[in-house]
Amino acid sequence: MKCSVAQARRPESIGEEVTLQGWVRTRRDSKAGLSFLELNDGSSLGNIQVIAESALPNYESDVKRLTAGSSVTVTGLVRESPGKGQATEVQAASLTIHGLADADVYPLQKKRHSFEFLRTIAHLRPRTNTFGAIVRVRNTVCNAIHQFFQEEGFFYIHTPIITASDCEGAGQMFRVTTLDLANVPKAEGQVDFTQDFFDRPSYLTVSGQLEAEIFACSMGKVYTFGPTFRAENSNTSRHLAEFWMVEPEMAFFDLNDNMDLAERFLKRIFRDVLKRCPEDIEFFNDRIDNTVLETLRHIVDSRFVRLPYTEAVGILEKSGETFEFPVAWGSDLQAEHERYLTEKHFQCPVILFDYPRTIKPFYMRVNDDGRTVRAMDILVPKVGEIVGGSQREERLDVLEQRMREQDLRAEDYWWYLDLRRYGTVPHSGFGLGLERAVQFITGMTNIRDVIPFPRAPGSAEF
Ligand code: ATP
Ligand code: MN
Repeated sequence: MKCSVAQARRPESIGEEVTLQGWVRTRRDSKAGLSFLELNDGSSLGNIQVIAESALPNYESDVKRLTAGSSVTVTGLVRESPGKGQATEVQAASLTIHGLADADVYPLQKKRHSFEFLRTIAHLRPRTNTFGAIVRVRNTVCNAIHQFFQEEGFFYIHTPIITASDCEGAGQMFRVTTLDLANVPKAEGQVDFTQDFFDRPSYLTVSGQLEAEIFACSMGKVYTFGPTFRAENSNTSRHLAEFWMVEPEMAFFDLNDNMDLAERFLKRIFRDVLKRCPEDIEFFNDRIDNTVLETLRHIVDSRFVRLPYTEAVGILEKSGETFEFPVAWGSDLQAEHERYLTEKHFQCPVILFDYPRTIKPFYMRVNDDGRTVRAMDILVPKVGEIVGGSQREERLDVLEQRMREQDLRAEDYWWYLDLRRYGTVPHSGFGLGLERAVQFITGMTNIRDVIPFPRAPGSAEF
């Protein structure tokens, strides 16, 4: 019976005859004329020990040639392991080699490699303990995201990746074009986009929010979950040029409903990971960051702090810290300010809300004070912002005024404005960056190490 390593490691498998298929991590030969193989197939962090005796017909010809990275099929009996740290082991009755890996050149010989080095071998790093654990945690997070929203009655909507609208009303977008860059058509000195594929300038999406709003204003509660693209040339440990974002959008939700949902949602993700990936989280706690386990356990039972932006500025001004960027009401908070609030001052997740209208996009609902908008950001220790959201402006006249303020042309957003013209409703939503969430859960310091193929300035080889 074909069986995963994860399954064969469980005591319930003792006595079963299994077929395991995977990659050899190490081979050790004993003087008594038998070999111990550590086998891994990605199903769990831990390997299974395979015992290959010299009585195997291909012991000398095959087993003795196995090196780290070789791929094999092993059939044998699962039995209780006398060794400590493992419940079971497999006594090989037969072993077949699929491919050897030349020990002189296979890059994953050493026990530990730097994450920088592993990024240069993105095709092999999934075979390392750390990256395997990342993949399993990331998978569990994605599963929790879908399960949460499905259980809550949301519809999963696919919003477009190619778009002609710029959600933030700002730059930092990748252009999509079929124009010949060596011979760009011009009209009156400008690029003539009427000759481009879509008859207009088009881009890779920075957010599915605006399109998700369309569906919230007919289906009630929806979410999109897909890749988003930002050409921010910021070489930071928290920014990717291509990242995954989950964006729920809910009709008849005000900002408080939005915060409640986001808090429950994050806790659900963390709880699922603790429950379903205990071995991986323990690994991150031992090897990467010895606070992750306690932080996650604490967060699932705590209440997030909710703090208006104005009060946050007051706290920062009184903090006595010297920040690189000064704090002043009306300017955007920098990562250092966010981290002070969540790591030092409150030492728990913080939901900041009611930001100055001048620093937030046009679609956020203006408060009665006229100076602030119903924005919310969720900040967590070490990572900073992982969620950004808001209650949306549902009043047509206010929205049009906001667009004028930000030099946006109403005719470019006619369909967005129609949602306010015909049966407008209060509604809200937010975006969670998947990689920021995985970073927070695992304690990995660089966001490029929590996505299979990181896209960042100058980096797109794999
Ligand atoms: P930041 O201020 O950290 O650059 P942002 O305010 O531009 O983020 P939003 O537009 O609010 O981000 O996007 C929602 C979420 O998407 C963020 O809270 C974050 O988790 C994630 N996110 C944004 N930009 C990136 C990026 N370049 N790489 C990875 N995740 C990102
Ligand atoms: Mn944000």
